[in-house]
Amino acid sequence: MINALSIDLEDYYHAIAFEKIIGPAKWDNCPSRIVRNVNRLLEILNKHKVKATFFVLGWQAQRVPDLIKQAAAAGHEIASHGYGHKLIYTQTPDEFKTDVETTKKLLEQLTGNIVCGYRAPAFSIVDKTLWALDILIQAGYLYDSSIFPIIHDRYGIPGAERFIHQISRKNGKITEFPLSTVKFAGNNIPIAGGGYLRFMPYWFIKRAIASLNKRQKPAIIYIHPWEIDPGQPIQAVGKLTKIRHYHNLDKMEYKLERLLTDFNFAPVSKVLGI
Ligand SMILES: [Zn+2]
Repeated sequence: MINALSIDLEDYYHAIAFEKIIGPAKWDNCPSRIVRNVNRLLEILNKHKVKATFFVLGWQAQRVPDLIKQAAAAGHEIASHGYGHKLIYTQTPDEFKTDVETTKKLLEQLTGNIVCGYRAPAFSIVDKTLWALDILIQAGYLYDSSIFPIIHDRYGIPGAERFIHQISRKNGKITEFPLSTVKFAGNNIPIAGGGYLRFMPYWFIKRAIASLNKRQKPAIIYIHPWEIDPGQPIQAVGKLTKIRHYHNLDKMEYKLERLLTDFNFAPVSKVLGI
């Protein structure tokens, strides 16, 4: 069974949790950690001979084009994370169209490869933004990996299909790879990565992925480059954000290496057969 490994390529200050204290106008003034962190991830992936999908922020790609080219040259899939990390439900359909078209073109010009995958900032394809799928189809995207079938304060479609499926919309079809969950006591429990991967003990994650694979279902894991970086500048944020963003940053490399040792991984497009 081959699972999908994805990295949302953005810096620590792009996190939605910081949007009130470090807005887009301040991004260029923040000390960047992206080159260090992505290089470290590329090293780890290379050591385990694993290729992944990098969902790259257009804004970020313009600032570190060589890093994106380097990841593509190493055989990783480059996909789109949109341009400016703006939640879809804060954009109009026209703004979103420009955002995803611009990013696709920018990344394709940079790497020379077709970009066919998309992941929304903070999984912001929710019930009220399903129109975004029509725009993705129109813009030429073949798959989306933004729907989290869980209950969460900022994202999620709790009743959504949990496994890879085709979604038919008025503009055509798109393949959806929802973020991985396991069912426990009637609830969908997220195991897909990010904070969930940092919070939960490794044995639980391992058992959860194994249970999906036993049912012939690939898992999809996501991580952010800043999640392996305990040395990032610490922001003055509230208690909940502090826990969500900074907990177990020093354990993430270890967990990633365990995952890469215990399971098989490939880029999303390869798992989908695109
Ligand atoms: Zn993101």
